[in-house]
Amino acid sequence: VNSDAGSDHVPLEINTDEVSIARIYDFALGGKDNFAVDRAAAEAMMAVVPETMLLAKANRHFLRQAVRYLVGEAGIRQLLDIGSGLPTAGNVHEIAQEIAPETRVVYVDNDPIVLAHGRALLATNDRTAFLHADLRDPDAIFSHPDTVRLIDQSQPFAVLLGGVLMHLEDEEDPWAVAAGIRDRLPSGGYLLVSNTCDDGEPRAQALNQVFAEKGMGSRCFRTWDEQVRFFDGLELVEPGLVPHNQWRAGPDMPEPDNPVHSMHIGGVGRKP
Ligand code: SAM
Repeated sequence: VNSDAGSDHVPLEINTDEVSIARIYDFALGGKDNFAVDRAAAEAMMAVVPETMLLAKANRHFLRQAVRYLVGEAGIRQLLDIGSGLPTAGNVHEIAQEIAPETRVVYVDNDPIVLAHGRALLATNDRTAFLHADLRDPDAIFSHPDTVRLIDQSQPFAVLLGGVLMHLEDEEDPWAVAAGIRDRLPSGGYLLVSNTCDDGEPRAQALNQVFAEKGMGSRCFRTWDEQVRFFDGLELVEPGLVPHNQWRAGPDMPEPDNPVHSMHIGGVGRKP
């Protein structure tokens, strides 16, 4: 297990009275690292859109398929997974290193519960590390000794932003955050983005309202037009920025024909 010297000073205060995005997502995926407050939030979401948990499962399916594409087809051997979430079935390094064992993976999350569980379960070999850091502070991520050690930033690498830009407010300028990451990619590098989406149906705004009330961000459901800008200057890999059931979905894609999938979209862009 790798140690992350910087994070050893982070007090591990897990607040069981406030919801955590990572723990709600863990619950949605069928995990056990969640508390009553998280489950109550998930139930409030399901009261508005019963298939909310399916959206999380579909997002995870997309992430796995995209990692298989990046490592298996695009030849990427370095991955930076920002907003990694809690360990789950089919973690990024497991999928990547099954295809190419030499692949290096750096996980980043700003939630202390992910630090507590993630370092033990995600950073299990010398090609994998876990950092406690924030997407809004990219310098801390890209200049961290573990990132520098594992990711040669002069060579193509992929940054994964699965279900994380959606939690930034407009004032925090998620487009500038994405641009800052695109600027750091060398030619041939990749950016993955997935987020909940306002598909124009009333249920999207209703669910956005619950996310906001639960403190997960007031703009979790942006439109497709708002989100395609995260890829400015990149070439979108086929089939583009689409609902997860349309992005190279595998046979284990849950309920592929459910219309709810239009509320969670993802894509992968390549820097020319
Ligand atoms: N990336 C995983 C996936 O797509 O399956 C997990 C997605 S989960 C919905 C979002 C994760 O992003 C949570 O673990 C949360 O703690 C983390 N997160 C939210 N805001 C963040 C920020 N500003 N910096 C780093 N991580 C953040």
